[in-house]
Formats: sequence, C-alpha cells, structure tokens
Amino acid sequence: MIDYLIIGSGLAGISFSEIALRNDKSILVLDNNSQNSSKIAGGLYNPVILKRFSEVWQAQEQLEIMNEFYNFLEQKLNCKIDFKSPILRKFFSVEEQNNWFAASDKIALAPFLSTELINIKYIGIDSPYGYGEVLQTGYVDTALLLNNYVEYLKQDNLFRDEAFDYDALQIESNGIRYKDIHAKHIIFAEGFGMHANPYFNSLPLDGTKGELFIIKAPKLNLDVIINTSVFILPLGNDLFKVGATYNWKDKTDLPTEEGKTELVDRIKEIISCDFDIIEHFAGVRPTVKDRRPLVGTHQNYESIHILNGLGTRGVMLGPAMAKALFENIENQFPLNKEIDIKRFQPKKQQ
Ligand SMILES: Cc1cc2nc3c(=O)[nH]c(=O)nc-3n(C[C@H](O)[C@H](O)[C@H](O)COP(=O)(O)OP(=O)(O)OC[C@H]3O[C@@H](n4cnc5c(N)ncnc54)[C@H](O)[C@@H]3O)c2cc1C
Repeated sequence: MIDYLIIGSGLAGISFSEIALRNDKSILVLDNNSQNSSKIAGGLYNPVILKRFSEVWQAQEQLEIMNEFYNFLEQKLNCKIDFKSPILRKFFSVEEQNNWFAASDKIALAPFLSTELINIKYIGIDSPYGYGEVLQTGYVDTALLLNNYVEYLKQDNLFRDEAFDYDALQIESNGIRYKDIHAKHIIFAEGFGMHANPYFNSLPLDGTKGELFIIKAPKLNLDVIINTSVFILPLGNDLFKVGATYNWKDKTDLPTEEGKTELVDRIKEIISCDFDIIEHFAGVRPTVKDRRPLVGTHQNYESIHILNGLGTRGVMLGPAMAKALFENIENQFPLNKEIDIKRFQPKKQQ
C-alpha cells in the first residue's frame, strides 16, 4: 500500500509530490498531458497586484515557502529554475508615478515597492515617465521544472503517463483502490481538468484562458522583466516571453487570432522596435470565483482530497497550498477557512 496516489503533475501535483517525498511518504503520480497551464505559464512571481496596487493574499508567507521550495528543487534536480529578477512597471503619466509612490507608503506594500523612480533607458522602449520597481520578484522556468521533475519521478518508477479513469476508483475503509494501486489517500490536482471529476466538479472552478508568445526582438535591449498591461520577460538570444491575455468565455487551450491581435497591440504599447512571433501558446488557468485556492478533503470520503484553484499565481501558491494540505492530512493542522473547500459545501442540517 502506498501513501499517496496523485492525479496531475502540474505545479499543484508536483508541489504535493515533493512535500510528501520529503516527509518519507510513498507516492505514485498519474498524468495524461491533457492540461498545459503550468507548462506554458509565464512563471512570474510578484507579491503585488499592480493593477489594483494591493498585496497578494499572504504574499510574505508564500514567498518564504516558495523560495525554500524551489531552492531545494534546484539542488535536487541539479538545474537552475528560479531566476530572481526585478519587475519594472512602466509609467505612462505623472499621475501613475504619484499613484505608485502613494502605494509604496502603505505598510503592507512597503516591503515590495521601491520608492526610487527608475530612469534607465532600455533600447527599444520609450519611457519618458520611467519605471517603478517591485521587489522580491522573478520567474520560475516552469517547463524545465515540470519536465525535469517528471523525469526524476520516472527514474524511480513513481510516474505513469496515463489518464485517470474516475469510474475505476474504489473507496475502502482504509484508503482507495485504483486498478492495481492501493493507496491511503488520493490527491486530485487536475487543474481545469477537474470538471471531469465527479467527486469535485460541483466546486466553482471557472477557468480563465491565457495566451502568450515567444517573440524575437533583436533591437530590444532588456535585462529585467517589464510588467504593465502584459509582461515582457527576457529569455536570452533576443528572445522574450510575452503575456498574457485573460478570456473568461473560451475554455480551450488553442491559440486564437483574437488573442494574437490583443497581445500584438499590447506589446506595441510598451516597445517601439520590430519583433517576430516565434511561438504562440494557450492554456486555461484554474481560477475560482472568490480568487482563493480549492484545498481540502471530500465531505463524505476522508481519503479523497483536492489541490486546485491556483488561478493566476500557481508559482507562489503551489508550494504553500501543498504544504497546507499535507499538514492537514498528516498532522490535522486546520486549513485556513479561505482556502478550505468546506466554504462551498452546504451547511449540514442540525
Ligand atoms: C498563459 C498563462 C500564463 C500564466 N502565467 C503565470 C505566471 O506568470 N505566474 C504564475 O504563478 N502563474 C501563471 N499562470 C497560472 C499557472 O499556470 C496556474 O496557476 C498553474 O499552472 C495551475 O497548476 P495546476 O497544477 O493546478 O494545473 P495544471 O497545470 O493544469 O496541471 C494539471 C495536470 O493534471 C493533468 N490531468 C488533468 N486531468 C487528468 C486526468 N483525468 N488524468 C491524468 N492527468 C490529468 C493535466 O494533464 C495537467 O498536467 C499562467 C497560466 C496561463 C494559462
């Protein structure tokens, strides 16, 4: 009997896998490559919601867990995945500058917003009003991380390239049985694929499609991340990742002409030099109406759990939410009410 059967090897699934392994638990991971949100993500981590000038929920705690987590994985997988880099917000007016400095005075935002006006001139970008700098930011190369993590699991026979068949799940008094697998717990981490899961598909997972590009812009000289209406992330060799769009209607992961036009227009608002689109990706973010993750245990079956709803911030949220779920299952640490799926369950009759 193994401790955990984990469905999904996106940011949620691998975060839980790693925390379980570190605690000497036995695991098996199944994934059928049906969702690609984590693989194509920008990978940025940023403790500030720049649109609204508010702190990301529990940002400092998440950053601490995240930093330790990716640092540990870099040693374990022997590759660089976490790239610390300033994120600069380009200003378009004096008013935007003033808003920034007013925000940087707020206690919650002070650790994350520099009070210095950045006036560096990057070739290829007109920036008469300069930039504001967000601190404690960077990006994780999610494609490399997932690829290398799955390879590592495969080497130890802990991974199967397989679609989970919900009809074959049997619930027993001391755990679950699935085909030849007997496990104490099953963790569902299917991202937007959760809609096919009869145990959890009543939860309000919306899904927000995002599209992004890899562009080539030889005349753009940029060594930091710019984040305004879209982000521009330098990858080296004149290549830049640019994204992303937000579409609440279309739930497919196919790149569209509409998404392309929107991204091209947004890029032109930021840079003034030529660029070519090299690749165009799309995926569906597992977003939730109340913007909080979906974590917890099925109300009728104590061996069935969910780790989902990482929304637009899987890089920061993944490790912290996986830790919270693991501590809840193994050590009965209570889950924060804001993330616990109990918030969506009907109150039991007295
Ligand atoms: C365009 C775009 C840009 C983004 N940029 C950022 C960013 O800059 N920073 C950030 O933090 N986040 C970003 N995100 C969001 C981030 O990608 C998500 O929060 C995160 O990927 C969610 O991870 P997940 O593991 O829950 O889901 P997923 O990545 O979707 O993983 C779910 C996995 O489960 C598997 N699966 C599903 N159903 C089954 C089944 N029945 N059987 C077997 N396997 C199954 C899928 O194949 C998949 O591998 C972005 C997302 C998009 C789309």
